[in-house]
Amino acid sequence: MILDANGRSFQYLRLSITDVCNYRCSYCLPNGYVEEAPRRFLDIDEIRHLVTGFAELGLWKVRLTGGEPTVRKDFAQIAATVSAIPGIGKVATTTNGYQLAKHAQLWRDAGISAINISIDSLDPVNFQRITGMDHLPRVLKGVDAAEAAGFDDIKINTVLLKDLNHHELDRFLDFVKDRQISLRFIELMETGDNAAYFEKHHLCASTIIKALVARGWQPVARMIAAGPAQEFSHPAYAGKIGIIAPYAKDFCQTCNRLRVTARGDLRLCLFGDGGHNLRHLLQSADQKNELQRTVTSLLQQKASTHLLHFHQSGATKNLSALGG
Ligand code: SAM
Repeated sequence: MILDANGRSFQYLRLSITDVCNYRCSYCLPNGYVEEAPRRFLDIDEIRHLVTGFAELGLWKVRLTGGEPTVRKDFAQIAATVSAIPGIGKVATTTNGYQLAKHAQLWRDAGISAINISIDSLDPVNFQRITGMDHLPRVLKGVDAAEAAGFDDIKINTVLLKDLNHHELDRFLDFVKDRQISLRFIELMETGDNAAYFEKHHLCASTIIKALVARGWQPVARMIAAGPAQEFSHPAYAGKIGIIAPYAKDFCQTCNRLRVTARGDLRLCLFGDGGHNLRHLLQSADQKNELQRTVTSLLQQKASTHLLHFHQSGATKNLSALGG
């Protein structure tokens, strides 16, 4: 297990496998993906070397993210490679779900056991307004397919947006009435590109917590090593509602994750000042010890907290480059 200078231990690697995204979410890539550097993303061998090294340092959970990770043609192959690495106990992914109806079973069979599907609106017109894509029915079919494919854990991610989707709260609650899945509201985070949007549409997570409590939802006791969401349950609902509140006090105290970008940069914090390139250490299995020494040493530079409260989002222009 590796520890940073603040005594936090790291079990969770979020690995971006591509910057490319086919959606145009208004808070992230409103004008769509723009190629700023050649699309030379980590290949399967580099990914294997990376995850093998990290697994021996105690990171046992890997999330494949992006961009949209499933735009990669070798997505299932990457998932199978990562899930076969000794020490990796859980492979998850975060997807916009555009290919889920078609490939849910393939991805489950490739070893992905947990899937987060982003759905920012349950109204088709509003979904298109927020994501730029007329895909809600298709994504909902994907959720059904994921349930049928037997994932251990299915979650819906919904970015909370003032005046764009917060009025849909009851519709979101209905969605989990009979489904044993967790829908998590993520408080909008400010990034380098979205300051004006953030000003207009940021809604504090506490507003939703108050609305949930008023409707009889109760906080669920937090498990040790649980993710960043505070979960709520209700006796009349099969599913749960989670709240991810990055602006909440002490949010970073329980940080247990490291990030690697699609080009092999270690990012110690989603909102840090930049990356530390590891790619040159991923070229052969023999470089594992050097990779591990480098990561262990860099980890000591991890900041105790992000500075989002001061509107400082570091080098993060949008989340598509490193996976949210
Ligand atoms: N393309 C995939 C998807 O749509 O889920 C994975 C990558 S996306 C960057 C991961 C998650 O980050 C999505 O749920 C997305 O809605 C969320 N996200 C992106 N930008 C955000 C922001 N500025 N604040 C909060 N969440 C954001």
